[in-house]
Amino acid sequence: KEELNIIQGALELRSKMVEHIMTPLCDCFLLSIDEILDFNTMSNIVENGYTRIPVYNKERSNIVDILYIKDLIFVNPDNRTPLKTITQSYNHPVQFVLPDTKLNAVLEEFKTGRSHLAVVRKTSIESGGDPVSEVVGVVTLEDVIEEIINSE
Ligand code: ATP
Ligand code: ATP
Repeated sequence: KEELNIIQGALELRSKMVEHIMTPLCDCFLLSIDEILDFNTMSNIVENGYTRIPVYNKERSNIVDILYIKDLIFVNPDNRTPLKTITQSYNHPVQFVLPDTKLNAVLEEFKTGRSHLAVVRKTSIESGGDPVSEVVGVVTLEDVIEEIINSE
């Protein structure tokens, strides 16, 4: 019974899209690139508990970097280090996916091992004709696995 559910879940990866399982941007814990890593900010990061934290510039829909919690191991809050210093030194690549990416495709991306989090970004054409990119959420390997094992 449970095995059948898992097989069902795996088969559905080809039809389900990232936007249906992602964590919407409004629910995401993000940091501004202008943040200072003082005691308050670092406590806040630890309390939120996420391993990967997208970093935005000016607007939350403009993700420019990812902070890994382990990047903070050598950071002393007394030094009030700018977040920018840390993200520039590690320079982790940000993986972007489109909202209509199928789950089997995003799972393949995660399996190649670069990262277990992708930023979901859509591109639309403005009235002026210019393309604009806007982040709408994040999706992680855990979201995909949950979809496989919890499918009814
Ligand atoms: P790990 O389990 O590798 O330590 P994690 O607990 O930080 O990482 P995941 O297990 O990858 O995160 O994901 C758990 C849930 O949290 C998923 O639904 C995912 O979309 C969501 N999530 C991950 N990072 C964030 C974030 N920075 N803000 C909000 N939600 C997030
Ligand atoms: P994360 O990807 O969440 O940052 P991680 O890279 O430390 O975590 P996992 O991705 O969970 O570790 O596991 C990768 C592999 O490393 C697995 O085969 C796991 O069994 C192994 N592993 C995890 N922790 C240790 C450890 N302390 N010593 C040796 N092997 C470990």
